[in-house]
Amino acid sequence: LPSAKASTHFLHPSLQAKMSRPLQARRLEGTEKNIWVEFVKLAATYSKVNLGQGFPDFPPPDFLKEAFVRALSGENHMLHQYTRAFGHPPLVKILAQFFEKLLGRDLDPMTNVMVTVGAYQALFCCFQAFVEEGDEVIIIEPFFDCYEPMVKMAGGTPVFVPLRLKDPKDGKLMSSADWQLDPTELASKFSDRTKAIVLNSPNNPLGKVFSRAELELIAHLCVKHDVLCISDEVYEWLVFDGKEHTRIASLQGMWDRTVTIGSAGKTFSVTGWKVGWTVGPNRLLQHLRTVHQNSVYHCATAAQEAVAQGFQRELQLYGTPDSYFIQLPKELQQKRDQMVQSLDAVGMKPIIPEGTYFLVADISEFKSDVPDAPGSDEPYDSRFAKWMVKNKGLAAIPLSAFYCGAHKNNYSNFIRFCFAKEDSTLKAANDILQKWKRERTSP
Ligand code: PMP
Repeated sequence: LPSAKASTHFLHPSLQAKMSRPLQARRLEGTEKNIWVEFVKLAATYSKVNLGQGFPDFPPPDFLKEAFVRALSGENHMLHQYTRAFGHPPLVKILAQFFEKLLGRDLDPMTNVMVTVGAYQALFCCFQAFVEEGDEVIIIEPFFDCYEPMVKMAGGTPVFVPLRLKDPKDGKLMSSADWQLDPTELASKFSDRTKAIVLNSPNNPLGKVFSRAELELIAHLCVKHDVLCISDEVYEWLVFDGKEHTRIASLQGMWDRTVTIGSAGKTFSVTGWKVGWTVGPNRLLQHLRTVHQNSVYHCATAAQEAVAQGFQRELQLYGTPDSYFIQLPKELQQKRDQMVQSLDAVGMKPIIPEGTYFLVADISEFKSDVPDAPGSDEPYDSRFAKWMVKNKGLAAIPLSAFYCGAHKNNYSNFIRFCFAKEDSTLKAANDILQKWKRERTSP
């Protein structure tokens, strides 16, 4: 055969030119930018303390690490090979057993549960499986940022409805429960074009845990307009102050139209393992399986085995003080309180979260610290977060990143901190804040 080099010798010069046809598929238009890529890089370059991206810097529980080690070095060498495409059998079985308890209904592990590469892929499967060109999908703002590009890539149109913050109570700290939907506004977003609503409770970035009454309102509208509910519940165990997480799939009329999404990353503090799942009726999950088998097909077997063992342990200890699902929120609640104190002391008004490992704080008092940017349409919180990491070494995420383009400037006085961190990390953050406070108050 002639070499590739030799063969170009015979090409007419015009045929050797670079490709000129459009490369990017049209469905990617407008989805190129990603807030995490930008802020993770800034944090890596400048931060001394990183409370930006949401992941714990403390170790996962020993029982889970040991389960992974056993999966890798034990006798069953088949754990190094492919397993069932829609979920490793021990994992779908234990998830079905667990969710039977939580949802109060019988579940078939093979048809009512599907394992995914993190909750992220579960979301992707939902949008690809259900959203048609021209369909509308209601997204409650602020929202986990990938919902919007994923809806658009599927050909759908996102329709946004904001949680509105109640007026501050004099001198008292606010709670994430003070972010509320206006029922009339929410109802006005439903139409015969609406295919689905995305619900995220407990909510990232606010830490809001939707009350039963709020969920009943959403459920009522879903049933009335025959709409699907994609329920992202990755923070289901991270709920504080004795509050209860209600699963919308357990409400009347909702099982049949809801896909519930979970994540081992959040459940067991192992975000790097990327094991997630979906739970729902077969008539919905069958379409998720189609997307899954034609894209990712399969998730890492050993990680699934370890997560299965983690759930087996948790099922035995369910509701007891030794359960990780009891211990983790307890520890996080203390970290939350520590962080609230640190922020309150420097005048960044924290809004106390009822769940998740995030809290947002009001930075409107800090406007004089950040240089003006005349002519820029970048929201204040984004400029603030960049300034803070560069000048103070503290990384956080602007809340406006969790709003659609048109609404970013309506909510630009808040930044989000992740408090799933070692006490030493939180103390280092407190030291930065205290020093900053001294600098601001000294004449
Ligand atoms: N949904 C929400 C609300 C999240 O916060 C995250 C992770 N930050 C995900 C989904 C993705 O989870 P995973 O890491 O399991 O893909």
